Amino acid sequence: MGELPEVSSDCGPGPEAARVRDSEAKALAFVGSRLVLRETAQGLRLPTLDEVEAAFERERLEVGRVDVRVTLTRRQVHTFCFDDDEPLPAGYRCDGLRVAYHSLADDDFRAAGAARQIIEWRRTTRFCTACASPLVLADAHDALACSSCGRLHFPPISPAVIVLVQRGEQVLLGRSPRFQQGVYSTLAGFVEPGESLEECVHREIFEEVGVRVQRLRYFGSQPHPFPHSLMVGFVADWLEGSIRIDEDEIEDARWFHADDLPVLPHPMSIARALIEDFVRRVG
Ligand SMILES: [Zn+2]
Repeated sequence: MGELPEVSSDCGPGPEAARVRDSEAKALAFVGSRLVLRETAQGLRLPTLDEVEAAFERERLEVGRVDVRVTLTRRQVHTFCFDDDEPLPAGYRCDGLRVAYHSLADDDFRAAGAARQIIEWRRTTRFCTACASPLVLADAHDALACSSCGRLHFPPISPAVIVLVQRGEQVLLGRSPRFQQGVYSTLAGFVEPGESLEECVHREIFEEVGVRVQRLRYFGSQPHPFPHSLMVGFVADWLEGSIRIDEDEIEDARWFHADDLPVLPHPMSIARALIEDFVRRVG
């Protein structure tokens, strides 16, 4: 094995040597976990690579450069990751992804989420889980390779189900102590080894609120980069049982009528899409 590339940033093994320059391309720059946005008269948007290179000191750019491949755009994305205390140039601001969602086109938001996920994984995955040697960037697929045994490590994706349980014109929503005040959402949980998605739906709903469900319908899925879940959405009908919450998981769960809903989760979430779909269907 040849000489190892130098680790050049806090966000994981260093940049790939070959980069195609496309100065009009959008750049994803993070300050800590927040995304850098360009302030314009028309509102906020992603900066271009040219703008980022003009705005930040050359030396800082080299330290922060962590180009990643974002599969959904099928291209290399010009990505930078700076420390939390990096001063922002005039005309720029940075927002957490949940806030930035409101300023970005869907594709840009998803690319930012994917990039953030890969950056965070590289930052926190430094050593081989088999032999504890340092990891370096692999040649393909955004994998990391062990510098000693060669084992490849891929970004993790953790599937979770998220379920809207319906009983006529009522929907079962719960709240976790982590939620913002007043917010109720659809129930969700991670898939366990050996379990199908459908089995997970039945288990999670019964464990969390003590009810049985039937007639599962697939709704859609959404990558959730906080930190690396894939949310798989279902609609299910209530079958039997009254609410009995698992207090370790949630602090309240109730049936809400479609006309009398509580504060709902963030508009970008699949939970919100499930609830809005329910309201349309029963309305
Ligand atoms: Zn190894």
